[in-house]
Amino acid sequence: MEFTEKALVLKVGAFREADLWVRFLSPSRGMLTAFAFGGSKSKRRFCGCLDALCEVHFRVRSTGRGEYLCLEEGSLLNAPRRLRSDWQRLGLAMRCIKFLEAVCPGSQGAPEAYSLACDLLRALEEEPEPDTLFAHLFRARASREQGFGADFERCAACGAPLVQDMDQGGTTHFLFVEEGRVLCRACAGRKFAAGRPLPLSPESAYVLGPVVDAGPSAWLQLEISPRARRECAAAVDALVRYHLGLSWENTRYKHV
Ligand SMILES: [Zn+2]
Repeated sequence: MEFTEKALVLKVGAFREADLWVRFLSPSRGMLTAFAFGGSKSKRRFCGCLDALCEVHFRVRSTGRGEYLCLEEGSLLNAPRRLRSDWQRLGLAMRCIKFLEAVCPGSQGAPEAYSLACDLLRALEEEPEPDTLFAHLFRARASREQGFGADFERCAACGAPLVQDMDQGGTTHFLFVEEGRVLCRACAGRKFAAGRPLPLSPESAYVLGPVVDAGPSAWLQLEISPRARRECAAAVDALVRYHLGLSWENTRYKHV
């Protein structure tokens, strides 16, 4: 079997003098690993392609019995520049990408994961000073696209809009982590939900709802109050930990 497809290179490693293995995200097949025989020497077949975070058009072949994939050749579509020279920026990008690897291993949800990853890289290339809340907003968006996520725009019990009266501070809503639902203050008081609630101001509901939906370029132009930053970070960490069983520890996501 042979196919050609766009791919985002996530990681490259050497396994013999001239040979490489390449982990990449494909928009139709999800996360794949393939060998690039002669990859570290062949400028003709892989010119500039075999580096993390490059967007590439690959020709891929599977071996006779389908045991493994080989990269035949690649042409470079897009390569990051600022991400390569700025460690903080690169760290933020890798933290987001590793989350995608954890939540989207197969072909289901792969088109969304691919386009989100490309938007992420473009936004991080262009932004003068990326913000660390970015990684939380990315996780909120990726979780929602993969089918885990709360509705932050309306109360899950009465349907009242949660994003209003932001200028006046508004009343606090509550996120019930275990149930993955947000309730307005009145409904939360009537005990429609069980478990420990986390407070969410209307500003936080706005950030985790419409802003997260708008995508990475919208997350960078935003003024967010310190309170909303704390609430959004706590809400995303709690939802990801409870519903996906993932927690960030040192350099990777661990199943908890
Ligand atoms: Zn309500």
